[in-house]
Amino acid sequence: MHYWEKFGFFGGHVFLDFINTYDDPGKTRDEDALPNWKTALKWSKNAGLLDNREYNALLALSETTSVSKEMETLYRLRELGWRFFNNIAAKKLPDATDLTAVEEFIKWSFQHATMQKERMCYSWVVQTSILEPTILRVKLGLALSSLLSTENLDRVNECPGCTGIFLNHGRGVGRRWCRMKTCGNRAKTNRFRGA
Ligand SMILES: [Zn+2]
Repeated sequence: MHYWEKFGFFGGHVFLDFINTYDDPGKTRDEDALPNWKTALKWSKNAGLLDNREYNALLALSETTSVSKEMETLYRLRELGWRFFNNIAAKKLPDATDLTAVEEFIKWSFQHATMQKERMCYSWVVQTSILEPTILRVKLGLALSSLLSTENLDRVNECPGCTGIFLNHGRGVGRRWCRMKTCGNRAKTNRFRGA
């Protein structure tokens, strides 16, 4: 079981949870927690990005070439997102090339979305009458746009134990670790051992 299945999400926002999909107990990003399309879909359903109908339709596409191409694009997006937020967490400006890429990605997502009235406001949604592998990426793009425009980015922090990025909603200094059950406990055990 991957960390996200075992311990849940910690990013405080779905896009941050996406860039945190690693199982590494340290500062590497080698243990992929989204190793294939099926796992990526399961993650998306758990994260609330896909409903059952979307999940089942996309699952049926598992063995197609468009899916393997889409996975490559999702991996590139995940690392772009991570570099971007890693700089924000370090209170630095993102790399100019990354900023342009993020902007392009968000523009692309809006081009694939429509405005829909929900109660007393309009929101951007993805039309899912025809389900294509790109739907996941469009939804991530809309989520990223909302994260960048509505959250206080001063609250973006990086866990000192791993590469996990999260929104700190706590008062004062707030929380330090991604999760107490992984990095928090590891640090406690190391202190206890005098390491
Ligand atoms: Zn951590």
